[in-house]
Formats: sequence, structure tokens, C-alpha cells
Amino acid sequence: MSPRRIVVAGGGTAGWMAAAAIARTMGRAVTVTLVESEAIGTVGVGESTIPPLVTYNRLLGIDEAEFMRATQATFKLGILFDGWRDGSDRYFHSFGLTGKDHWAAGFQHYWLSGLERGQAAPYDDYCLELVAALKGRFAHLPDNALNYAYQLDSGLYARFLRKMAEGDGTRRIEGRIAEVELDGASGEIAALRLQDGQRVEGDLFLDCTGFRALLIEGALHAGYDDWTHWLPCDSAIAIQTENVGSPAPYTRAMAHDAGWQWRIPLQHRTGNGIVWCSRYLSRDQALDRLLGNVEGRVLTEPNHLSFVTGARRRQWMRNCIAIGLSGGFMEPLESTSIHLIQRAILRLIRMLPLGPVNPSDVAEFNEQQLTDMVQIRDFLILHYKATDRRDAPFWRQCAAMDVPDTLAQKIALFRETGRVFRKNEELFAENSWVQVMMGQGIMPRSWHPIAAKLTDDELARFLASVRDRVAQTVATLPAHGAYVTRYCGAAEPADRAA
Ligand code: FAD
Repeated sequence: MSPRRIVVAGGGTAGWMAAAAIARTMGRAVTVTLVESEAIGTVGVGESTIPPLVTYNRLLGIDEAEFMRATQATFKLGILFDGWRDGSDRYFHSFGLTGKDHWAAGFQHYWLSGLERGQAAPYDDYCLELVAALKGRFAHLPDNALNYAYQLDSGLYARFLRKMAEGDGTRRIEGRIAEVELDGASGEIAALRLQDGQRVEGDLFLDCTGFRALLIEGALHAGYDDWTHWLPCDSAIAIQTENVGSPAPYTRAMAHDAGWQWRIPLQHRTGNGIVWCSRYLSRDQALDRLLGNVEGRVLTEPNHLSFVTGARRRQWMRNCIAIGLSGGFMEPLESTSIHLIQRAILRLIRMLPLGPVNPSDVAEFNEQQLTDMVQIRDFLILHYKATDRRDAPFWRQCAAMDVPDTLAQKIALFRETGRVFRKNEELFAENSWVQVMMGQGIMPRSWHPIAAKLTDDELARFLASVRDRVAQTVATLPAHGAYVTRYCGAAEPADRAA
């Protein structure tokens, strides 16, 4: 049987992540051809990630220190949220776990009982990743005891993966796709026609053309579900600044009166951006606000972006699979876009057909991919819905909106009982929901009765032992900046050296 011809349209983070993973995993069972246009370029943002990327890189046999040097990466232990509950508050959404769970009840139940008995310190004190982040400490610990992700330059990541993919046999074609040619009988994509007249044929086509969605929407009209009534931000501006001080091992998400602003420290610079709802703030106002709230000298021109939050109705249609921004977009509040790319690629590799595309695979893929997106969507909506902010029309709109039933049920359950249940391999586990719900001001009215099994003394000892262990471990960790320099310091900023 001749190898499957896989054509990747687009060479942003999505395109090169897909080409690298498929070429490495499938070897000579497939041929991979990637078409990209330097003249069009990439979206040029995407810097904060979540822990599954560590596994993805391991799966591809990537050496972590080499990858971090090449992408100017730092470690990330979570996200610090400023001003989301009432404008002046702070809370942290960390990776990892808080405290120690019992199989019948998460740690929050013991903590809530301790709080009532006057024995509990702040919830944050019981989480290793959180305390380490705020103290600016990091090291790899045995048994992956410290959960982390990366803050990286995604343009450099794409360049790194390109080298790997080309080394594994991927053929790259430079050129602008002018037309997507459909097979008259089947309606499948037969070939891409480039502006210079080249024709690129294939069996499977991955649409990694970003917001343009040239194949999945332009040619196949898969349709798009608009979620802006739940996530009303529709605009962003990104700029880069010089680092001030040592890079923090966390991303910041600072709320403002019509959206929020990110700050992501890499080795050689800091990524900044403002996200807002254009109904309540003009582009000029947003730019002023961003420039007025950055640290360090501005290094780049502003990169303006507009988007419609939502999901492509069918991510896989006929012989075309949308990966990356072509499949939909949700604002980067919880750094989930690169993760969705990763999920789609691994899912596709698991479902690669031997012969013609199998409709059962397509249906399964679409259902799983959409489930991932809907679960992330609900988690993002939580940040806007559960707020005491009423200081601006944007926040009043968010507080008043109806939310999906799935989210309403989750909030009600937590508020009444302190319980959170993870469904269908949901990305965000109990720790994430608990931290964000309490951070946004939802305090449970009751907790699991199992906590009452412990006497006051026993509970106090248990809580203190967890807290002490966290403090003692953090005290042994080196400063994050020094650790990065030693482990994976880029000799000179890679993008300036290139
Ligand atoms: P792109 O980068 O746009 O790449 C599209 C590719 O298609 C390019 O190579 C382009 O040249 C090519 N192309 C398009 N048209 C043609 C044509 N006609 N012919 C040939 N080639 C063509 N994600 C995170 O995980 N973390 C973050 O912190 C984060 N922050 C973000 C902030 C903002 C404001 C935005 C908008 C996104 C953010 N993302 C983030 C998302 C992340 O940037 C993307 O998921 C990621 O970069 C993948 O983009 P892509 O490859 O799908 O598209």
C-alpha cells in the first residue's frame, strides 16, 4: 500500500507541531508536505502554556533543555489573577494539587472544616506550586513533584519543530495557496493550487492556516459556532518589552474595566498584551492602557488582532482536519490554545485511517474535540460570571449573563457542597476549579462530613503538616531565574541571533 500523503496547509505553531509529530510518529508510513507563506506570516502570539506540553515534547523525544534554549523559555507554575473578583483582589491558579485529598473528599473539605474551627491558614499555603511561584523559586523535583509548563516564544518553537520535522523527512513548500481544488465526485479536497502554479496533491489535508481557515471554511464551509455572548472579548494588542528583573515563574492576568491584560516573562523579553471587548473600549484607548501598564522599554510595534470566540462546527470534515486557530479560538486567559492543537494532533494520529476516511473516526474525533473546547469554554466563562465587579458596563454585562447549564450546575454544586467532579478526561481538574471558584469569590456553604471525623487536634496537626511540608520544600528550591540560566540559558537572545 502506498504511503498516505498528508498535506499541512500553514506553518504557524499548529502546522509545525502537526508536521513534527506526524513525521516522527509515523515515519515512512506517511509522507508529510507543508505549505506556508512567509509573506503572509503567522499570528505572532502565543507564549503561555500548560503542563501537558511537557508530555507532548517528551513523546516526540525532544530534549527539554535544548528546546528551552531554542525558544527562550522559562518555567511556569500557574497564573496570577489580579482584580477579577472586586478590582483589587488577587488569587493564583496553580498547576498541581493543593493539600492532600482523601478518596472520598478533596482537600478543600478539610480546609473548610478547619476554617470554621479557626485552624486553617490561607488556602494558598497548602499548594507547593503556588508558594514556589510567588516566592520565585523553581527546580525539577523527583517524581515530577513540582508540576510546570513553559512560557516560550511560539515563533521560535515553530522554527525548532520545523528543523525536527524536516530532519524527519517533511517537505516544505514556500508559496501562497491560491485555490483549494475539490474532487467533483466526492467533494473531498484533491489538491492545493499555489499562486506560482504548483499543485500539491494529498490524501489528508490539515488546515493550519490560522484565522483564515482556507480549507475547512473557505472550501468546505464547515460552519462556526459563535460564543461571544459568553466570552465577549473580541480584540487584542500584543507588544514585547525588555525584562525588568528576573523572570517570574508565572503568567499574570490583570483585569481592567473592559477585559484584561497579560504579562508573560521569557528569558530575553516579556510578552504583554491587552484583551478587550470592543463595545466598551476603542483601539486607541486599549493601546494607551496597555502602554501605560507595562514594565520595561517597549521593543516591538503593537500587533493588533481581532477574533470571534467560538468553535468550527466540524473540526474534521471529509478529508480535512482543522488544527489551531482554523478550528476556533478562545481568548488566552488560561493558555489553552496550544494545548488544543496538541490534543487535536495526538487524537488525529490515533485515528489515522489506513484507507479512505472512516465516518466513525470523523464523528468520534469531532465529538471529542468539541467536548474539550466546551469544557475549556465553561472554565473561561467562570472567570467573568463569578465576579463582584459592577464598576463598569463590561463587568455588569458579564455578571448578568446566562451561562451554559453545564457551568451553572458546576457552580451550584460547589457553592452548596464544596464538591467538584471531573468529567470525560476534562483538562481542568478539581484543584483548578476550586482555586478559581474560591478566587472569584464562590465559597462553599458546606463540606463533606468526613472532615468531622478528625478531632480539632487531629485536623490542626494534619493541616499544619501539609503546610510545613510545602514551606520546607520551597525553602530548598533555588531562584527560578538562576535555575533557568544554569539549566537552559540561551547564550544570546535566539530571535536576535537568527
Ligand atoms: P497562524 O500562526 O496564523 O499560522 C497560520 C499559517 O498559515 C501561517 O504560516 C501562514 O503563513 C499560513 N497561511 C495562511 N494563509 C495562507 C495561504 N493563503 N497560503 C499559504 N500559507 C498560508 N495560545 C496559547 O497556547 N497561549 C497563549 O498565551 C496564547 N496567546 C494568544 C494571544 C492572542 C491575542 C491570540 C490571538 C492567540 C493566542 N494564542 C495563545 C493562540 C496561539 O497563538 C495559536 O493557537 C497558535 O499560534 C497557532 O496558530 P496557528 O498556527 O493556528 O495560526
